[in-house]
Amino acid sequence: MNRRNFLYGTAGAFAALTGGAFLAGNRPGGRAMAETFEITKTEDEWRAILSRQQFAVLREEATERAFTSPLNEEKRAGLFHCAGCDLPVYSSDAKFDSGTGWPSFWQSLSNAVGTKEDNTLFMTRTECHCRRCGGHLGHIFDDGPKPTGKRHCINGVAMTFKPGATQAS
Ligand SMILES: [Zn+2]
Repeated sequence: MNRRNFLYGTAGAFAALTGGAFLAGNRPGGRAMAETFEITKTEDEWRAILSRQQFAVLREEATERAFTSPLNEEKRAGLFHCAGCDLPVYSSDAKFDSGTGWPSFWQSLSNAVGTKEDNTLFMTRTECHCRRCGGHLGHIFDDGPKPTGKRHCINGVAMTFKPGATQAS
Protein backbone atom coordinates (compact mmCIF):
# COMPACT_ATOMS: atom_id res chain seq x y z
CA MET A 1 0.00 0.00 0.00
CA ASN A 2 1.49 3.32 -0.85
CA ARG A 3 1.28 6.21 1.56
CA ARG A 4 -0.81 8.37 -0.71
CA ASN A 5 -3.51 5.72 -1.07
CA PHE A 6 -3.46 5.20 2.67
CA LEU A 7 -4.02 8.89 3.30
CA TYR A 8 -6.81 9.08 0.77
CA GLY A 9 -8.45 6.06 2.36
CA THR A 10 -8.29 7.65 5.78
CA ALA A 11 -9.72 10.88 4.42
CA GLY A 12 -12.48 8.92 2.75
CA ALA A 13 -13.42 7.19 5.97
CA PHE A 14 -13.43 10.53 7.74
CA ALA A 15 -15.56 12.03 4.98
CA ALA A 16 -18.07 9.22 5.45
CA LEU A 17 -18.24 9.95 9.19
CA THR A 18 -18.79 13.64 8.59
CA GLY A 19 -21.40 13.22 5.91
CA GLY A 20 -18.99 13.61 3.04
CA ALA A 21 -18.48 17.33 3.47
CA PHE A 22 -14.82 16.97 4.33
CA LEU A 23 -12.38 16.61 1.46
CA ALA A 24 -15.11 16.04 -1.09
CA GLY A 25 -13.78 14.76 -4.36
CA ASN A 26 -11.52 12.05 -3.03
CA ARG A 27 -12.35 8.60 -4.18
CA PRO A 28 -10.96 6.14 -1.66
CA GLY A 29 -9.90 2.98 -3.33
CA GLY A 30 -11.08 4.17 -6.71
CA ARG A 31 -9.18 4.57 -9.92
CA ALA A 32 -8.58 8.26 -9.44
CA MET A 33 -4.86 7.72 -9.06
CA ALA A 34 -4.50 5.30 -11.92
CA GLU A 35 -0.87 4.68 -12.71
CA THR A 36 0.51 4.75 -16.18
CA PHE A 37 2.32 1.66 -17.38
CA GLU A 38 5.19 0.94 -19.71
CA ILE A 39 3.12 -1.62 -21.61
CA THR A 40 -0.41 -0.61 -22.51
CA LYS A 41 -2.85 -2.37 -24.83
CA THR A 42 -6.49 -1.97 -25.73
CA GLU A 43 -9.02 -4.39 -24.29
CA ASP A 44 -9.22 -6.15 -27.67
CA GLU A 45 -5.45 -6.51 -27.86
CA TRP A 46 -5.34 -8.05 -24.37
CA ARG A 47 -8.17 -10.43 -25.23
CA ALA A 48 -6.24 -11.56 -28.30
CA ILE A 49 -3.18 -12.67 -26.30
CA LEU A 50 -4.75 -13.81 -23.03
CA SER A 51 -7.02 -16.74 -22.25
CA ARG A 52 -10.50 -15.86 -21.00
CA GLN A 53 -9.45 -16.67 -17.44
CA GLN A 54 -6.20 -14.74 -17.69
CA PHE A 55 -8.09 -11.72 -19.00
CA ALA A 56 -10.64 -11.90 -16.17
CA VAL A 57 -7.88 -11.93 -13.54
CA LEU A 58 -5.22 -9.68 -15.07
CA ARG A 59 -7.50 -7.06 -16.61
CA GLU A 60 -10.69 -7.27 -14.53
CA GLU A 61 -9.25 -8.20 -11.12
CA ALA A 62 -11.18 -11.45 -10.87
CA THR A 63 -9.90 -14.07 -8.43
CA GLU A 64 -9.33 -17.65 -9.49
CA ARG A 65 -10.89 -20.40 -7.40
CA ALA A 66 -8.59 -21.66 -4.66
CA PHE A 67 -6.60 -24.84 -5.34
CA THR A 68 -7.19 -24.61 -9.11
CA SER A 69 -3.76 -23.43 -10.26
CA PRO A 70 -1.00 -25.96 -10.87
CA LEU A 71 1.40 -23.22 -9.75
CA ASN A 72 0.03 -23.60 -6.23
CA GLU A 73 1.89 -26.92 -6.04
CA GLU A 74 4.93 -25.77 -8.03
CA LYS A 75 8.00 -26.46 -5.90
CA ARG A 76 10.82 -26.26 -8.42
CA ALA A 77 13.39 -23.48 -8.42
CA GLY A 78 12.62 -20.80 -10.94
CA LEU A 79 10.87 -17.55 -11.71
CA PHE A 80 7.21 -16.69 -11.95
CA HIS A 81 6.48 -14.25 -14.76
CA CYS A 82 3.53 -11.94 -15.39
CA ALA A 83 1.26 -13.76 -17.84
CA GLY A 84 0.46 -10.45 -19.51
CA CYS A 85 3.90 -9.08 -20.38
CA ASP A 86 6.37 -11.77 -19.22
CA LEU A 87 8.09 -9.61 -16.61
CA PRO A 88 9.57 -11.83 -13.84
CA VAL A 89 7.56 -10.90 -10.72
CA TYR A 90 8.22 -13.61 -8.09
CA SER A 91 11.00 -16.07 -7.29
CA SER A 92 10.68 -19.60 -5.95
CA ASP A 93 13.10 -18.37 -3.25
CA ALA A 94 10.24 -16.45 -1.59
CA LYS A 95 7.45 -18.99 -2.21
CA PHE A 96 5.82 -20.73 0.73
CA ASP A 97 2.82 -22.97 1.29
CA SER A 98 0.18 -20.76 2.91
CA GLY A 99 -2.50 -23.42 2.81
CA THR A 100 -4.86 -20.93 1.16
CA GLY A 101 -4.94 -22.59 -2.24
CA TRP A 102 -3.20 -19.72 -4.02
CA PRO A 103 0.51 -19.41 -4.82
CA SER A 104 1.97 -17.40 -1.95
CA PHE A 105 5.19 -15.44 -1.60
CA TRP A 106 6.70 -13.40 1.22
CA GLN A 107 8.13 -10.86 -1.19
CA SER A 108 8.10 -9.94 -4.86
CA LEU A 109 11.18 -9.47 -6.99
CA SER A 110 12.54 -5.94 -6.66
CA ASN A 111 10.82 -3.35 -8.83
CA ALA A 112 8.33 -5.92 -10.10
CA VAL A 113 4.96 -5.08 -8.60
CA GLY A 114 2.93 -1.98 -7.77
CA THR A 115 0.17 -1.73 -5.17
CA LYS A 116 -3.03 0.14 -4.58
CA GLU A 117 -5.74 0.14 -1.94
CA ASP A 118 -8.69 -2.08 -2.79
CA ASN A 119 -11.94 -1.37 -0.92
CA THR A 120 -14.12 -3.94 -2.66
CA LEU A 121 -15.86 -6.81 -0.85
CA PHE A 122 -16.48 -4.61 2.21
CA MET A 123 -12.85 -4.67 3.32
CA THR A 124 -9.65 -2.81 2.74
CA ARG A 125 -6.97 -4.86 1.07
CA THR A 126 -3.72 -4.08 -0.69
CA GLU A 127 -4.01 -4.99 -4.36
CA CYS A 128 -0.83 -5.80 -6.26
CA HIS A 129 -0.17 -5.70 -9.97
CA CYS A 130 2.62 -6.02 -12.50
CA ARG A 131 4.52 -2.74 -12.54
CA ARG A 132 5.13 -3.02 -16.30
CA CYS A 133 1.67 -3.77 -17.73
CA GLY A 134 -0.59 -3.10 -14.75
CA GLY A 135 -1.99 -6.64 -14.86
CA HIS A 136 -3.69 -7.58 -11.58
CA LEU A 137 -1.79 -10.32 -9.76
CA GLY A 138 -3.43 -10.62 -6.33
CA HIS A 139 -3.37 -9.08 -2.88
CA ILE A 140 -0.80 -8.56 -0.11
CA PHE A 141 -1.67 -9.37 3.51
CA ASP A 142 0.21 -8.87 6.77
CA ASP A 143 0.04 -12.47 8.02
CA GLY A 144 3.00 -13.89 6.11
CA PRO A 145 6.13 -15.58 7.42
CA LYS A 146 9.48 -14.06 8.27
CA PRO A 147 11.48 -12.19 7.24
CA THR A 148 8.87 -9.77 5.81
CA GLY A 149 5.67 -10.86 7.54
CA LYS A 150 3.92 -10.30 4.22
CA ARG A 151 1.82 -12.77 2.29
CA HIS A 152 1.51 -12.04 -1.41
CA CYS A 153 -1.55 -14.08 -2.36
CA ILE A 154 -1.27 -14.43 -6.12
CA ASN A 155 -3.54 -15.85 -8.77
CA GLY A 156 -1.65 -18.65 -10.48
CA VAL A 157 -3.40 -17.93 -13.77
CA ALA A 158 -1.84 -14.47 -13.76
CA MET A 159 1.64 -15.98 -13.97
CA THR A 160 3.74 -18.39 -15.99
CA PHE A 161 6.55 -20.42 -14.41
CA LYS A 162 10.03 -20.82 -15.87
CA PRO A 163 12.18 -23.37 -14.03
CA GLY A 164 15.85 -22.50 -13.63
CA ALA A 165 17.36 -19.27 -12.36
CA THR A 166 15.72 -17.84 -9.25
CA GLN A 167 16.90 -14.29 -9.75
CA ALA A 168 15.91 -12.05 -12.66
CA SER A 169 18.90 -11.20 -14.82
ZN1 LIG B 1 2.94 -7.56 -16.77
